[in-house]
Amino acid sequence: MKILVVEDDTSIASSVTEAIENLGWTAVHSETGQGALELLNSEAFDCVVLDLGLPDLDGGEVVRRTREHSQVPIVVASARPDESDRVLALELGADDYLVKPFGIRELIARLRAVHRRHSSSATDTADTSRYVVGALTVDTRTREVTLGEKGIELTPKEFDVLAYLASDPGTVFKRETLLSDVWDINWYGSTKTLDAHIASIRRKLGSHEWIESVRGVGFRLVNPA
Ligand code: CA
Repeated sequence: MKILVVEDDTSIASSVTEAIENLGWTAVHSETGQGALELLNSEAFDCVVLDLGLPDLDGGEVVRRTREHSQVPIVVASARPDESDRVLALELGADDYLVKPFGIRELIARLRAVHRRHSSSATDTADTSRYVVGALTVDTRTREVTLGEKGIELTPKEFDVLAYLASDPGTVFKRETLLSDVWDINWYGSTKTLDAHIASIRRKLGSHEWIESVRGVGFRLVNPA
């Protein structure tokens, strides 16, 4: 794995890059958003660890510009615990969100999960279904979602959540099941990330009613019509 670490705090940057190199992976460090964008344009990375508070560009802007041409997994690491920052980062296309201060082991666990997902999706040939629920179509082959005639733009992770729910409409999927199957691992605090993804999918579908919350259990996809 080759990982781009975008972080202006040199002590955090050095502990993160050291941990990555201890695993036998490669870490490339950039202190600025502009520097990160240039690296992303010229080299291939398996994952990006991105600070939001950068000296030049906001990290959110880095996510947005990266997503214009690349689906590289992005793990945002931020000192901002606000729900709105989290939702914004995920909506812009980040795959995961860690609130600082975070443990290096937690970060490594996320990176390993990204790595596993990457290596499994390359070999997964069974993943070729198309789910239709009322006006909603979720095509896992082309990874396209349409509502009526309209295409819905989802982030890769939002797509995975929606496709998972759409694979069995009406069935309630437990939070833990969604987290372990879509994110691959169970981690503390992750349920907020799931909530943020669900909120964002609902907004993009233009209605709360497609995804029903079942209190204390999880979520299910229903046809509001
Ligand atoms: Ca910073």
